[in-house]
Amino acid sequence: MGYLIKGGIVITEKGEIPADVAIDNQRISAVGSDLVDSSERVTLDARGKYVLPGVIDAHTHFALRSRGTITADDFESGTKAAACGGVTTVIDFADQIPGMSLADAAKARIDEAKPYVATDFALHMTITKAPENPDSELRDLLESGVGAVKLFTTYRAAGYLLEKNDFIKVSKAAHRAGLLVTVHAEDNDLVENLESRMKAKGETAPAYHAVSRPGEAEASAIRNTASILGEAGLPVYFVHVSSGPGLEAVREARKKGYTVYAETSPHYLTLTSNLYAQDNAREFIMTPPLRDSCDIDALWNGVLNGEFDVIATDHCAFTRRQKAEGTSCFDTLPGIPGVETLLPLVHHEGVVRRGMRLSEIARMLSYNPAKLFGLYPRKGTITPGADADVVIFDPNLRKTITSDSQHSKAGYTPYEGMTVQGYPTTVLVRGKVVYDNGTFLGAQGSGRFIASKGRLSRG
Ligand SMILES: [Zn+2]
Repeated sequence: MGYLIKGGIVITEKGEIPADVAIDNQRISAVGSDLVDSSERVTLDARGKYVLPGVIDAHTHFALRSRGTITADDFESGTKAAACGGVTTVIDFADQIPGMSLADAAKARIDEAKPYVATDFALHMTITKAPENPDSELRDLLESGVGAVKLFTTYRAAGYLLEKNDFIKVSKAAHRAGLLVTVHAEDNDLVENLESRMKAKGETAPAYHAVSRPGEAEASAIRNTASILGEAGLPVYFVHVSSGPGLEAVREARKKGYTVYAETSPHYLTLTSNLYAQDNAREFIMTPPLRDSCDIDALWNGVLNGEFDVIATDHCAFTRRQKAEGTSCFDTLPGIPGVETLLPLVHHEGVVRRGMRLSEIARMLSYNPAKLFGLYPRKGTITPGADADVVIFDPNLRKTITSDSQHSKAGYTPYEGMTVQGYPTTVLVRGKVVYDNGTFLGAQGSGRFIASKGRLSRG
């Protein structure tokens, strides 16, 4: 069975055109004006609506085991929330497993997710310890379908940080094998020194979270990492750039001729650190922390000027109870839910409020993540032959975001009470309707693992 999406405005990275979209056998079979109905196709009326490529959230943490606990959303609730917000592919993370090769750890993560996912998924690999034979291990990792690694410049105490020599060694091997290097950039020494000084002064309440990890720590790590990798001729992708100084460091690196990709996240574009003054401060703790309104303005400038490549959520949900176990800004579980609100928030704050072009939504939420992470042209655009991952989006539908309307198991949303203009009405993953007007229609286990073709596939 197929569908004919009739009468909508098709949005791609190139622009917007009024066109019908035909779907057969899980793929887009035609895009054009006045496509003819056939008895094998069900017609979906998209008059007055946008027809967007399915969103790829390039940064989620479902079923993440960390700091002695596990995140509230597993692959079932996480991808259900994703589908209900127009996200048709999530890129999650595989962690290294001691005594196991990178490829085997990736395969174990694929097997873990597969029975539960309602959307398609891909994986990055977090590397916190240099493998013994990085070149062959990273080649095998790409062979198993993982197209990017994530390295940390911070969290030495938690065991995430890769020391400089290993950082360079792993980055070079990943690059040679055809994987993209992505980095969580915050200056560890700066953050650790600040932490001990703050602890000495008793400044440890959740209210101090933003102070404990300043934008300057992010900027310094971006400058440092970009120049180390840039001088070695390696491109680098910075995850969740959160601050004006961080974006400025990205600009400086690009001026030096380094290839730098930058991602930011909806919470850095909408919420400020004033929230840390509230009693429920813990529910807004993530790293890097929220900043102030100057940073929000700077980041939006970056988005509107095309300086950001990707907007992704870093969805890492914990329940209120898990959050409440934290006694200070240093031990509260960091992370918030966000996958379901990604597209509505970017549309409302970007297009409705700031005049962002619709093609920029398609570029940053679909096309670029597909290109950078080796999923294109199967994913990321609306074109014949691509998977039929499509969002029918009503630009005038107003919806108030509340915890009751969300599908994350966090039990709360950081955007409680916000009214957005524009919301998905129908979402298809490979030609199957997974969401329709407020109702989840997907099926656990129907999503597929999409193997990345790696960095070198980009043309
Ligand atoms: Zn993350």
